[in-house]
Amino acid sequence: MDEAVGRTLAEKILGDKSGGEARAGDIVIARVDLAFVQDTTGPLTVRQFQAAGFQGISDSLCAAVFLDHAAPSPSQELSNDHMLLRDFACDTGCRIYDVGDGVCHQIVAESLARPGELVVGSDSHTVTAGGLGAFACGMGSTDVAVVLCLGRTWFRVPESIRVLVTGQLAGAVSGKDLILHLIGQVGADGATYQALEFGGSAVDQMSVAQRLTVANMAIEAGAKAGLFPSDETTREYLREQGREDDYKPLTPDADAVYERTVEIDASRLEPTVSCPHAVDNTAPVSELKGTKIQQVYIGTCTNGRLEDMAAAARILKGRQRHPQTRLVVSPASRKVLLEAMTAGYIGIMLHAGAVILPPGCGACLGMHQGVLGDGESCLTTANRNFQGRMGNPKAFVYLGSPATAAASAVTGEISDPREFW
Ligand code: SF4
Repeated sequence: MDEAVGRTLAEKILGDKSGGEARAGDIVIARVDLAFVQDTTGPLTVRQFQAAGFQGISDSLCAAVFLDHAAPSPSQELSNDHMLLRDFACDTGCRIYDVGDGVCHQIVAESLARPGELVVGSDSHTVTAGGLGAFACGMGSTDVAVVLCLGRTWFRVPESIRVLVTGQLAGAVSGKDLILHLIGQVGADGATYQALEFGGSAVDQMSVAQRLTVANMAIEAGAKAGLFPSDETTREYLREQGREDDYKPLTPDADAVYERTVEIDASRLEPTVSCPHAVDNTAPVSELKGTKIQQVYIGTCTNGRLEDMAAAARILKGRQRHPQTRLVVSPASRKVLLEAMTAGYIGIMLHAGAVILPPGCGACLGMHQGVLGDGESCLTTANRNFQGRMGNPKAFVYLGSPATAAASAVTGEISDPREFW
């Protein structure tokens, strides 16, 4: 390719980390900045690390273990997995975030990932850190074991799809509605092994919290990464986390080459919901009004941030959950929980009839803390609604924004949050 042609965000980051040009389609060996595992996939990583005879973790990267998916542990077997991970962290000196600290992707955003970095984790939603301008992706447990030892891994540099978001998100329409709309438009395999690179006037105005939500779900369109530029909004977010020094600006070149461009006018978006049992089975809320919901779940790495708690509290303030609808809330991290308590959001939700779970994955993956009954429906702010996702293949899972979730908790059926905003 002509060297004069500009580079996408993916090409810039992978080029920087591999010391070369890193054009789409190239195979590169890249230096990893941050590698992490969580408690469902991490035990296999540890066993593979040990079976390979690796002596320790590479000095060149930050390594972390998170106990978040089954936290606190609901079973003997999972408790033993937690012990294995704690021992591994103790033996190798890697960081550990224990039960109650929060979901890995939220803590990575709050405390670890930096713009321009390369992040890998043994969890598909590692893509979340793309909201900060990091090239972040999930990998298999064994691949992460190798990264932990070598501090490097190989990539085929992905082609990029430019997602140009014009207009402005407003009111009760949020980043969650944007990404659900996009996945409904391109399909669950619409960006397979490509980078979704977001830009445009609406992106310029989006908070980092919303960018993280959008990047989090890039994998639901099959994308290798979901990437946002790093700008003054990013700097402000990092400043709020006490790490402004981690900021670095990052934008794609104006003449970067994209596989294609998808345009979305954010001003025309409606609150959107994914219906059972596929993320790309989307519909505007207006088409689903009246669908009965037995449980609402607000939280997860997709929508468990302070801004999400604020949106839910805004609707729930002075209202009660519907008597036939349970309301379960799990802030994504200890930090979010503390800030939501200080802001009064937790009190509002408790008064509305919510159950507050400890920070972590909670009911998201159906292990505990909110498993659905046969034939029940849940509207969750999570990122997946595959059959059985919330622990029961005879249940039905809908995905929506925190505002849509809160409005639906009040009425007991899928409802338009704009009527409560
Ligand atoms: Fe996975 Fe849900 Fe945990 Fe996110 S909150 S890491 S999607 S289980």
